[in-house]
Amino acid sequence: MRIYVYYVTISTMSSDILSIQEEIFKLIGNQKRLEILLLLENRELNVSEMTDMLGLRQANLSQHLTLLRAQHLVEVRKKGRESFYTLADDSIAVAIRTIHDFLRKTHRIDAAFDSNALFPIVTDPICGMRFSASKAFSHINKGGKLYHFCASGCESAFTNMVKLTREEHLAQSVHA
Ligand SMILES: [Zn+2]
Repeated sequence: MRIYVYYVTISTMSSDILSIQEEIFKLIGNQKRLEILLLLENRELNVSEMTDMLGLRQANLSQHLTLLRAQHLVEVRKKGRESFYTLADDSIAVAIRTIHDFLRKTHRIDAAFDSNALFPIVTDPICGMRFSASKAFSHINKGGKLYHFCASGCESAFTNMVKLTREEHLAQSVHA
């Protein structure tokens, strides 16, 4: 029995798309850029929101965004002095999620990367620092409103300023 092997010549067009895909995979093969793309899934964010959520310096974030823009993965909208970013197309986030889910299965990892955990952005009432609620050093429920604090002692400055009720004080010592 003779076995015939047919070699199919990959057309120029399909090799072009593979070479583009190679470039894109190299570009997104970076944890911070993956985080940026997932963070922008279904939403628009400005630069300062992204630096807060990702813990990046602005110069560093700008480098990533420039690369992602050059490959048409993200788009920018200018409003005054602020720049707002969105995904050029949500399907890139879907593709990342698909690979992500495959890897969670093969590596038996339960937790998915949850960009929503980086929300909402809160403001420390004492020093004015902005960070995601999940990154707050501590928080106090005062009069039904939740206040979040940085790690530099703003919580005690706050409690010295406002009078906590006995219940609020008890609640505070639970997580302190
Ligand atoms: Zn503070």
